[in-house]
Amino acid sequence: MDLIIKNGMIVTPTDMYEADVGIKGEKIVAIGKELSGSKVIDAKDMMIFPGFIDVHTHIETPFMGTYSSDTWETGTKAAAFGGTTCIVDFAIQSKGGTLRAALDEWNKRATGNAYIDYGFHMAMIDINDSSLNEMETMIMEEGISSFKLFFAYKGELMVDDDAFYKALEKAEELGGLIMIHAENGHIIDLYTKNLLVENKTEPMYHAVSRPSIMEGEACQRAIALAELAEAPLYIVHNSCLEAVEAIHEGRERGLPIYGETCPQYLTLDEERYTDPGFEGAKYVISPPLRSEFDQDALWFAIERGDLQVISTNHCPFFFRKQKERGKDNFAKIPNGIPGIETRMAVMYTAGVLEDWITINRFVELNSTNPAKLFGMFPQKGTIAIGSDADIVIFDPEKEVTINSKNLHQNTDYTPWEGMIVKGYPITVISRGKVIVDKGNLKGEKGWGKFIKRDRFYPL
Ligand SMILES: [Zn+2]
Repeated sequence: MDLIIKNGMIVTPTDMYEADVGIKGEKIVAIGKELSGSKVIDAKDMMIFPGFIDVHTHIETPFMGTYSSDTWETGTKAAAFGGTTCIVDFAIQSKGGTLRAALDEWNKRATGNAYIDYGFHMAMIDINDSSLNEMETMIMEEGISSFKLFFAYKGELMVDDDAFYKALEKAEELGGLIMIHAENGHIIDLYTKNLLVENKTEPMYHAVSRPSIMEGEACQRAIALAELAEAPLYIVHNSCLEAVEAIHEGRERGLPIYGETCPQYLTLDEERYTDPGFEGAKYVISPPLRSEFDQDALWFAIERGDLQVISTNHCPFFFRKQKERGKDNFAKIPNGIPGIETRMAVMYTAGVLEDWITINRFVELNSTNPAKLFGMFPQKGTIAIGSDADIVIFDPEKEVTINSKNLHQNTDYTPWEGMIVKGYPITVISRGKVIVDKGNLKGEKGWGKFIKRDRFYPL
């Protein structure tokens, strides 16, 4: 064997046990006691996790008149430092454009630049016969089996109910999974206009313009349409009680509805929008941060199994220059925050150490379920013989004060600035290659390869 990780505590969704992991080439080939090989990493007192998977990122993405600030090089490097060994990013169709053109554009940026493996979802904003037909090639030939549509961003990305229904039907027929950004774009548009007429331009009004009731409404509508089309549905970045109530109700009736949430909705709240000056802009995301009450509702939804995935919705912008585009108008603040590098540390501290989730559930939410729902299991998402050797060696005792200056994300702040986390990824392995070694970069750009994903299978 080429590499042995010795004496660590292996954690999967079902087990936790001390054993050695043996790696040959890019694969895990043995799990046992007293394995030997040419190179050994001593992982005594460490946790051994399957590489974490982030199925919601926006790297180098054109949005709101600018680009998200991480390149494929900086974004995937930051991910690696944070213990993430695979991301699924959104290629976005343009109005009047083909899915093929979007795929080409994203490939051009990603190819040769990634430190870790990656896949693409296809975001569809122009639903017509030809784009619907292209879904087949995407699933069958390109390994792109998930498609995101938006009920928000009227006039930009938003689709109507009939377009959404057509995509659901097609995905169901082909074995694809539809993902929905569930907010009500019409009401957001109306509220935004009204607020601006009243000269309410500060960042806090971003949250006012996007009421949680209408996130719940959009979830209910999306679920009803999925039920009508007899299709599975994945609801992205749920932020509030109303959303998870809708998901709970659908799942109680046996519908294949799945949902994710993000660390920001579980750990930060709307009070941030009243930070002095323009500071609130740092937290302008969609859906917006909600109340502490909503945070608890999300944790309960995770406990109940109504939410299956934690992703980041990593979409960074610089506070200076980029967020400042909305200095006089909250509707011009680019929506998004960085989070690709801090997910594991924040979720371990706020989730596992606060007793909201077990260590097994932590692995399931952040690695195994994303791999299963998005057609990458068991190649990824677990520690098992034959799986890719994507492994995180995690020190559960290491304390770190989060400081944007020490992070690798290409932006000038983090929403978790100053948070003291306990538990941090130390060494990260991607397909058998050590890419982060005790906090030092060993990987190289271009190592990460495109992962063709399988069709959708229910969890
Ligand atoms: Zn997103």
